[in-house]
Amino acid sequence: MSLTRDAKQLRACLGCLFVQSGNDFLQKGCPNCDQVLQLQQDKVAIQDCTTSQFDGLIAMAQPGQSWVAKWQRIDHRMPGLYAVKVTGSLPAELREQLANER
Ligand SMILES: [Zn+2]
Repeated sequence: MSLTRDAKQLRACLGCLFVQSGNDFLQKGCPNCDQVLQLQQDKVAIQDCTTSQFDGLIAMAQPGQSWVAKWQRIDHRMPGLYAVKVTGSLPAELREQLANER
């Protein structure tokens, strides 16, 4: 799959379910987990750590106040769009690192 061709396609971060376009991941990384996943300017990492296979979208505007955020346990995350369910998972090593960060 070419990231360039699919740059505008939405992808979900496998670490936190944050959703934005492949292009945005490339330019900005993931607002929640880039310290660990380091997606910014790294097409290979984006292939490994995000997916275009996801279901449902939740818009979260005010973390901490939304019942959706509490339900999804994402109240400590950046406002934005989140996937409800993703297909795939992070490489085990990165998953552990992310868990340790929190
Ligand atoms: Zn993330």
